[in-house]
Amino acid sequence: MNTSFQLHDFVGGIHPTDNKVQSTNTPISFAGIPSKLILPLTQHIGTQSKPLVSPGDTVLKGQLIAEAQGFISANLHAPTSGTISAIEARPVAHQSGLSDICIEITPDNNDTWVERTRITDYKKCDATQLINAIQAAGITGMGGAGFPSHVKVSADPAQINTLIINAAECEPYITSDDMLIQERAQDVISGIHVLAHILEPKNILIGIEDNKPKAADALIEAIEKDADTPDIQVVIIPTKYPSGGEKQLIQILTGKEVPAGGLPSELGIVCHNLGTAYAVHNAVIKGEPLISRITTITGNACAQPQNYEVLIGTPVEHLLNISNTDIEKTSRLVMGGPMMGFTLDQIQTPIIKASNCIIAATKQELPDPAMEQACIRCGMCTEVCPAQLLPQQLYWFSKSSNLEQAEAHNIADCIECGACSYVCPSNIPLVQYYRFAKGEIKQTNEDKKKSDRAKIRFETRLARQEREQAEKDAKRAARAEAAAKKQAEKKAAAAANPEGAVEKKIPTADLQLLQKKFDATKAAVAKSKDKIAALEASESPDTDKIELLKGALEKAQTKMKDAAKAMAEAKKAEKATSTANADKGDPNSPERLKNKLELAQSRLTTAQTRLDEAKAENSDKVAALETAVANQKQRVQDALKALDESIQQTNQQNTTEIKVDTEALKQKVLAAQTRVDKASERLNMAKEQNLETVGALQTGLEKQQAKLDEAKATLASATLEDAK
Ligand code: SF4
Ligand code: SF4
Repeated sequence: MNTSFQLHDFVGGIHPTDNKVQSTNTPISFAGIPSKLILPLTQHIGTQSKPLVSPGDTVLKGQLIAEAQGFISANLHAPTSGTISAIEARPVAHQSGLSDICIEITPDNNDTWVERTRITDYKKCDATQLINAIQAAGITGMGGAGFPSHVKVSADPAQINTLIINAAECEPYITSDDMLIQERAQDVISGIHVLAHILEPKNILIGIEDNKPKAADALIEAIEKDADTPDIQVVIIPTKYPSGGEKQLIQILTGKEVPAGGLPSELGIVCHNLGTAYAVHNAVIKGEPLISRITTITGNACAQPQNYEVLIGTPVEHLLNISNTDIEKTSRLVMGGPMMGFTLDQIQTPIIKASNCIIAATKQELPDPAMEQACIRCGMCTEVCPAQLLPQQLYWFSKSSNLEQAEAHNIADCIECGACSYVCPSNIPLVQYYRFAKGEIKQTNEDKKKSDRAKIRFETRLARQEREQAEKDAKRAARAEAAAKKQAEKKAAAAANPEGAVEKKIPTADLQLLQKKFDATKAAVAKSKDKIAALEASESPDTDKIELLKGALEKAQTKMKDAAKAMAEAKKAEKATSTANADKGDPNSPERLKNKLELAQSRLTTAQTRLDEAKAENSDKVAALETAVANQKQRVQDALKALDESIQQTNQQNTTEIKVDTEALKQKVLAAQTRVDKASERLNMAKEQNLETVGALQTGLEKQQAKLDEAKATLASATLEDAK
């Protein structure tokens, strides 16, 4: 009991007429097996489940017919045995009124169960085994948006200290939880035990409004009966809409506010719907997946308002029939409650796991919405908003599609309770505007995610291309740098070794000039000597003139020596250049040997000149110079011989090459002949068959023949050359 429990309140809220009594006077009945069951693949938040059956397949009750795709998804089971009669788009229970893929089962009315796996002692199981069992049973939230329950129970026990079971059932008309508790409280408590075993909370609280005294008593009785019950507290809370909102119930029971955009687990709290606890009991203790639920059928057009145990997939039409609902009197058919539910356009729409109520309302009961008026800025919507939002501003932002501002004003925290619409004197369907804006924001965010992913892909590709280009540039720069370095090294080497770097060639004209100069000075010396000798031999020698001539002779001899020296240096430089160039090739090549010969001849000339000078001066070096001249003459002879041999060898090689070329030309002629033969053959065949290609083949043959003639002529010419 909650006699000593400290309750809190949440801001806002309203007190609409609850209209619950009508459907609580009759016990829960089984709605029976309809002629068709329509099972949408999306009955939950998250990824659509994937069908495991095909039309024509027979299935058993409880058989898995569509499996979850990913963690946030849910399994789907056959609610009874029968045949898969279709898998196609059908109208589904959604405020959009759109169709979605459904599996249709035609029941065989045998209601034959698949083999069930029960867990006899859940206390011996670890949390993972039990979570797996909940996941396998396809359990989703039974009172809200249908969040897969295994995700919620996967919270880390170390982070959780309070388990809250939501039995508030605050919305008018809906009594499914109320009647479930009244009739099956023990099973509900059993399911809470299993959840507590998984989550190991310190506190377990069941929040129930004070307009359900019988249900509260049933819970307390069930808890007292169960000796093994952990400390579960039934907390009776004041009736106020929407106390059953998750965040509002948490605030009432704990005084804690879930932060905007946050989750209860951040406060160490996990909150489950009471119907979910019952489904967990069925899954773990009885081995039954979620294939049915308790649904309230009510409204003034319904002759027998009550709660039914309904197979998931049962068309609403079937429920209207068994509850003697007058379709003619029904002006609005609502799935869910009058505050958060939505109008159904088609009575074939099936019951899904989250369908807690169907209201067949008369015109007086739920009149058509009055004409929407302009907002008078009365602020009543703000006063009742349990999420502490600014509904009036959200309305303006939504209406003007100012989604950025709507987001900035926390439209995501709107629980769509409808309290603002309920009090609005201008009859503005505020929640409809919010739903539209939320849908737009969701779409925009998804588009942005897609575009961000595309942008990341593009930028990654761009970065890769830039990286590759940079690598190429770096390699190119490195090559250029290496080349420049090599060039610089070459230049440096050339600077360090000018002789090698600059092949200074003494022009031939200069050498000839020097030779002429030398010859002239030599002639002048000889002439002066002759004149002196003639004067000295005369009977009365003119001594003054002789002395003058001797002075001139000395000058001429000096000039001759200078000219000889300059010429010798010039020849030496030319020789060095020639030798350096010649050294680069084959030492026995005709070119190298020719250079060698020229060098020897040059040395011979120099030696001969020195010998002549020595003789003219009667020098004592004459004998040595004569030997040097003789040796140099021998070197010239040797160089001449080596050059002749080299020239002969080169001629022989050339002859061999000519022979090789002749052989290649013969092969060429043979190949050309073969092509001519083939072309001729093709042409003949084409002529025999009178083909259109005759003309083209004739041209081809002529071309091949021309090539053959050319090859033959070349061969003949080469053969003639060879013979020479
Ligand atoms: S309750 Fe209606 S009229 Fe009043 S401020 Fe809100 S939206 Fe405007
Ligand atoms: S529908 Fe949204 S804005 Fe309106 S009262 Fe409820 S939570 Fe507030």
